[in-house]
Amino acid sequence: MATIVWETVSQHWCDLMNQEAELLEARVYPADILPDVGVPYQVSARKCSLGISCNLAGYACRWSYINPGYDPFEEKFGRDPSVSLHGRG
Ligand code: SF4
Repeated sequence: MATIVWETVSQHWCDLMNQEAELLEARVYPADILPDVGVPYQVSARKCSLGISCNLAGYACRWSYINPGYDPFEEKFGRDPSVSLHGRG
């Protein structure tokens, strides 16, 4: 059975929430070790640790699912080509 682990991949001070926020990704590790695989997991989803609160508060950004065109993590660290606009790798 595969194992899913949420890992923090980035964190920053979010100016909209005025507190520290973490970008998390769900890493799926297969039950069996696969030969000749560069990364031993697949990323199935990404989210901000404060995304639900921001959605309820109306803060518009990609990770609160209100404004897919604005990513505060990208603003500070640049575009990660492995992160799609839909929050899935
Ligand atoms: S969901 Fe967006 S606005 Fe809210 S803390 Fe995360 S990056 Fe900031």
